[in-house]
Amino acid sequence: MKHQDCVSCGAANGMTRFEDRSFEVEYRNLRRSVQGLSGWECRACGETEFDPDSALRYGAAGDQLIETARRTIAQEMKRIRRKLSLTQKTAVQMLSGGGHNAFSRYERGEVEPPRSLVVLMALLDRHPQLMEEIVAINQDVRLDPQIAAQEPGH
Ligand SMILES: [Zn+2]
Repeated sequence: MKHQDCVSCGAANGMTRFEDRSFEVEYRNLRRSVQGLSGWECRACGETEFDPDSALRYGAAGDQLIETARRTIAQEMKRIRRKLSLTQKTAVQMLSGGGHNAFSRYERGEVEPPRSLVVLMALLDRHPQLMEEIVAINQDVRLDPQIAAQEPGH
């Protein structure tokens, strides 16, 4: 049997059998090709239905890609923090907020850091001298009168 009704759009005999085809999994800027996949593809709506073993392999490749991305980001966070001579505690206080062990969790890959922090760390990696500005911003008390002025009763 080479055709079957589409499981997605219902097109009669819409799905055609394919064997030994490669598909790409993507995550962020990472790509992996998964070879030798088989299943059904709909000519009408483009829906692809992998055979069970192919679905498992395709899914596992995607999971692995996410794991690789997480581990890479985690290692980068640690490398840049050390380059800046910051402790995890200081990094939380000055850069990220989010609880005293936030950086520890980012560096173990337990939690993916927010995009804004990844960008900030990449910026500091390229221009470590900007840490002076970060320190100054953290010590800046000029906002205090403005905050106080917003409080009711002032
Ligand atoms: Zn279809």
